[in-house]
Amino acid sequence: ELYNKILELKGNIRVFCRCRPLNFEEIEAGVSMGIDVESTKNGEVIVMSNGFPKKSFKFDSVFGPNASQADVFEDTAPFATSVIDGYNVCIFAYGQTGTGKTFTMEGTQDNRGVNYRTLKNLFEIMKERENRYSYEISVSVLEVYNEQIRDLLVPASQNASAAKRFEIRQVNEGSHHVPGLVEARVSTMEEVWDVLKTGSNARAVGKTTANEHSSRSHCIHCVMVKGENLLNGECTKSKLWLVDLAGSERVAKTEVQGERLKETQNINKSLSALGDVIYALANKSSHIPFRNSKLTHLLQDSLGGDSKTLMFVQISPNEKDNSETLCSLNFASRVR
Ligand code: ADP
Ligand code: MG
Repeated sequence: ELYNKILELKGNIRVFCRCRPLNFEEIEAGVSMGIDVESTKNGEVIVMSNGFPKKSFKFDSVFGPNASQADVFEDTAPFATSVIDGYNVCIFAYGQTGTGKTFTMEGTQDNRGVNYRTLKNLFEIMKERENRYSYEISVSVLEVYNEQIRDLLVPASQNASAAKRFEIRQVNEGSHHVPGLVEARVSTMEEVWDVLKTGSNARAVGKTTANEHSSRSHCIHCVMVKGENLLNGECTKSKLWLVDLAGSERVAKTEVQGERLKETQNINKSLSALGDVIYALANKSSHIPFRNSKLTHLLQDSLGGDSKTLMFVQISPNEKDNSETLCSLNFASRVR
């Protein structure tokens, strides 16, 4: 509740920047560092060129290569768990492929990310409040690829059938729904883990290799929370969207054609639509262009109003990636 006061004071959109560590190959090759986050401790990222500072950016939080998943979650938790108090929340991971979007959101088996930690934290809060509130949590896992929605909680064969085309419907004033998506009820962390695993395994099934495919689609977890205040019978319904976005790297149009060109255009379209929506919201614009992509249309009721938005801008420390890093940091600065 204290967190919510702080959020109200500072507005509902936050941007966190996270820089991954150099990987083994980069260390072996002795690449130069293109990013400095260590010498500044006040939410600043410095882009370096030949050892000299070139440009600096400020964010609400900055996580350097040594930040742990727990460090990141500590700052994320107030946003993510406010879904239990009736807020709609969207958390995005944005950035070039290979910068740690999936690491931040999904994490690894030994080093779990925001998705798992959030659900764990929600169950802890439910337990603390069990005398006063009763909650029901369900989870959908979906993917937006080429402007089409795929349910990751049903077998791939079912998704392939033309009958299973998911559409976004407006159910009543301001509320959107995708009829037919699986909503898995979860009441234990074992059930959560099963759902998360099923989702990430389904994502890996595709025409191209798992990695290629996942870098070109948006992977979305929707955590739906229904709450009832046992003292006065008041009910709340809210959604938390956890979005691992498609890679933001620019692909030269001359280098791709056919299916790949269409993919690239759809990614560019949806990422710029997302940027436009958040920018319009941050600037209290009268027209918010939600309908310009499936992604923003899908998240429409959870963006704006008193909803909360958190964007992770993920970057590489490798100087060779500086031009992509600058694009990502510029994108993130625009929405802040
Ligand atoms: P993306 O989803 O943006 O393409 P990944 O999350 O797959 O990137 O990260 C690429 C690789 O770097 C993975 O092997 C991942 O485990 C590793 N990695 C990313 N961020 C970190 C980090 N902060 N600490 C340790 N390893 C990381
Ligand atoms: Mg990924």
